[in-house]
Amino acid sequence: MSELSANKTINPFEVALKQLEESSKLIDLDEGIHKILAHPKRVLTVSIPVRMDNNKIHVFTGFRSQHNDARGPFKGGIRYHPQVSVEEVKALSMWMTWKCAIADIPYGGGKGGIICNPKEMSEGELERMTRRYAYSISDIIGPHTDIPAPDVYTGGKEMSWIMDTYSALKGNFVQPELITGKPIAIGGSLGRNEATGRGLSFTVREAANRLKINMKTSTVAVQGFGNAGQFAAQLVEEQGAKIIAASDSKGGIYNKNGLQIGSLRKYKEKNGFLDGYPGAKSISNEELLETDCTLLIPAALESQITKKNAEKINAKVIAEAANGPTTPEADEILYKKEILVIPDVLANGGGVTVSYFEWLQNLRREYWTEDDVNERLDRNITKAFADVYQTHEKYRVNMRKASILLAVLRVSEAIKIRGLWP
Ligand code: NAD
Repeated sequence: MSELSANKTINPFEVALKQLEESSKLIDLDEGIHKILAHPKRVLTVSIPVRMDNNKIHVFTGFRSQHNDARGPFKGGIRYHPQVSVEEVKALSMWMTWKCAIADIPYGGGKGGIICNPKEMSEGELERMTRRYAYSISDIIGPHTDIPAPDVYTGGKEMSWIMDTYSALKGNFVQPELITGKPIAIGGSLGRNEATGRGLSFTVREAANRLKINMKTSTVAVQGFGNAGQFAAQLVEEQGAKIIAASDSKGGIYNKNGLQIGSLRKYKEKNGFLDGYPGAKSISNEELLETDCTLLIPAALESQITKKNAEKINAKVIAEAANGPTTPEADEILYKKEILVIPDVLANGGGVTVSYFEWLQNLRREYWTEDDVNERLDRNITKAFADVYQTHEKYRVNMRKASILLAVLRVSEAIKIRGLWP
């Protein structure tokens, strides 16, 4: 991940609580269940002393928030970023509870993070910090209790260190099912890399069917050309759509006749940025969002579509690869403009779904082919889209409210069935 930063004026946990409250009202949720869902089950704060390369000790602060496990073990990423906060991980863990319930996979929601700037740390410092954090949270994570994964600025490398530390601490045998997003060599799943973009492309296909949009005459603008954005763009291109605008942190490019994703990827790999791509016009990130197109894919930062620019959005469908790219005020404006927003908790659920497949493969010590993974992903996401769309029609609310409402219904049913004990 790169250059991702939260909008500090918005408290994400307050946003998450507001969303929960709105959904609870719509379904007349039991007051007690609402209270349970408004509080994460456990939030652990840990101090992580690390000997830095200059031989001095630095103490980092880390968190793990476990929101709800009524439907299954907690699941969620670990984020390394200077702006990580306890409020942020609490909100993200609640959103993971919803995301897993919408995808209908047997997990609850969790999220962790360390306040640090990994860009300014050496490989050795990162490894020592990661292993010490794994040690500090080792009593609350586990293959059947809480299964972490990568998030902003973490990836296969960090997951491997965590798996190795945990395995050594807890019985000294290899336990790949502790964590997902691992490299293939130690039990990662084929198809995990593309999973978020692939899942998103399935939701777009389903939305196009419902709205009678022909993908072959559709145009696409994608903000952010990283893991999620690149694969999402490539896979909607494979459905016949024409990518006309793309951007990264340096700015965007536009060509009304179409940009070819394979060639864009090669250009970005070679030059570091999209800017300067031959035959395309340079545009700003603001202009990209306002591009006249059929499909807009925000795949970079939080809070990109706000009340300031929502009125100027010219897409028929927005599919959110990024987490939280649209503010609540903008949502209302887009709904009035009849733009269908496929919200993050549905559109980017392909990532956690293939993480679930990785966990299943690890538990069974078997490995699936990439086709197998992709077919199962298609079935899961198509069903999730249909469930949310039906809820959206039934309650006459936008797709985001419908997604959270559906999740709250599923999680609250599990809480009621299990009951309170002791
Ligand atoms: P990434 O670091 O691979 O890519 C991020 C991209 O955004 C980069 O191309 C970067 O240059 C670009 N960017 C940064 N600042 C920008 C700006 N101001 N304007 C336009 N582009 C900018 O990250 P990623 O894994 O693709 O994640 C992107 C988003 O998708 C995040 O919100 C993440 O939480 C979400 N997401 C990712 C996954 C996944 O599996 N990768 C899963 C679920 C959600």
